[in-house]
Amino acid sequence: MSYAAWGGGAHATAEVRAIRPASVDAARRGYASPGTSVLAFGNGRSYGDVCLNPGGTLIDCRSLDRFVDFDRTTGRLTCEAGVLLADILASICRSDDTGGAWFLPVTPGTRFVSVGGAIANDVHGKNHHRFGTFGRHVLSFDLARSNGEVVSCSPTENAALYRATIGGLGLTGLVLRATIQLRRVEGTALEAEDVRFDRLDEFFSLAAEADQAWDYTAAWVDCLATGRSLGRGIFSRARHRAGAGSPPPPLQPRITIPVRPPVSLVGGLGLRAFNALYWRKLSLRRSERTVGGYEPVFFPLDAIGGWNRLYGPRGFFQFQCVVPPAVAAEAIKDMLGAVAASGQGSMLAVLKTFGDLPSPGILSFPMAGATLALDFPDRGDSTRALLARLETITVAAGGRLYPAKDCVMTANTFRDGYAGLAAFKPHIDPAAASGFARRVGIIGPAAS
Ligand SMILES: Cc1cc2nc3c(=O)[nH]c(=O)nc-3n(C[C@H](O)[C@H](O)[C@H](O)COP(=O)(O)OP(=O)(O)OC[C@H]3O[C@@H](n4cnc5c(N)ncnc54)[C@H](O)[C@@H]3O)c2cc1C
Repeated sequence: MSYAAWGGGAHATAEVRAIRPASVDAARRGYASPGTSVLAFGNGRSYGDVCLNPGGTLIDCRSLDRFVDFDRTTGRLTCEAGVLLADILASICRSDDTGGAWFLPVTPGTRFVSVGGAIANDVHGKNHHRFGTFGRHVLSFDLARSNGEVVSCSPTENAALYRATIGGLGLTGLVLRATIQLRRVEGTALEAEDVRFDRLDEFFSLAAEADQAWDYTAAWVDCLATGRSLGRGIFSRARHRAGAGSPPPPLQPRITIPVRPPVSLVGGLGLRAFNALYWRKLSLRRSERTVGGYEPVFFPLDAIGGWNRLYGPRGFFQFQCVVPPAVAAEAIKDMLGAVAASGQGSMLAVLKTFGDLPSPGILSFPMAGATLALDFPDRGDSTRALLARLETITVAAGGRLYPAKDCVMTANTFRDGYAGLAAFKPHIDPAAASGFARRVGIIGPAAS
């Protein structure tokens, strides 16, 4: 059957055999006797082939959605790997009598990702500079291997397999259940501030200053702006607010895009107008402070269900890199210049600085520096040429690309960016495979 990742289109769709186990024991058995190569599938919120296994088997973890234990005193949560972060927010992350709450220590830009997927891509959020990656808060997990064994992993038990599985792209086995440490916060409401900036260097000053006092930071960049305005945008920062409880967002999106239009509705003149208008939304005061729920700050895109369909049947590509601090300003400037020159703007251009808290994972993506995320409707060769140009700038800067967002990086780029690859390889499960792993040569010969 056909399985699609979030980017859609032919580049993010695969024919697979799918197993949807109803229990962790059935999942263990399914993983041990797939009859083909095998890979876990979380909730398909990766953009490309990292969650697909063309011609092989996918163990679809969406039914592994039970909570096992939650200790209100310590904030330790044990759940099955298919539990979504949205379920944890809805059931557990609520203000108590003190106004405070247990909250997700780290969350990506959508809450519709599974715990297993968050571990396997070692996801990051807007608080990377304070809390590092999701994997730093994973206390332990049970991992099924294709020989039928279940291995308990933690920083002290099977520690090497623990480090390989965090950020291990699903290639070390199937996470059945995990224990994560939630974070105690003063309140679930957020104090948030948006600040307009006119040039790229202002972004770096704002980030350096805000990282001291704000938990969450990220900026939207107008990637069609050129010349003196190159890199202009809106810097957003937020922190939890004591005593101001905020209910969890609804599990269903408010609006849903019901069908995929025949052509992409994203791009062209509409995008240019959107970017110019959006940048001016703060024109009078240049900054705006609010107190409210966390949904608009963390998950603005989740309010529109199936927004990826707007890119039409060809789908879209996401690009995300990280480049080291010393060369970040220059490299990001070159990338924004390349995007502006190509005329293929991105609506969702997000720029953030990562801090230097190390990830536990051997292959984790985040490292200290600046990270830029962009998306482009698939226009064929011209889009691939732009992605290749952005990849070249990243590699020249000593940076790397994020597998969770990728569909095009070369084997050389992956090998050069991920120094831990040799240490990772012995932990790969002999039956595991993904489109991504084959393409970049983690297993078998690299695709040409
Ligand atoms: C709108 C949007 C915003 C996003 N923002 C961010 C962001 O801010 N930061 C960020 O880091 N990412 C971000 N992402 C990417 C997303 O967080 C990751 O791709 C995440 O891993 C997806 O989780 P999933 O459950 O959908 O897993 P899938 O995409 O289905 O799978 C991801 C990987 O996890 C593996 N996997 C899944 N379940 C298991 C399991 N039980 N055992 C072992 N391996 C498993 C798969 O094999 C695959 O390699 C965003 C994605 C979207 C769509």
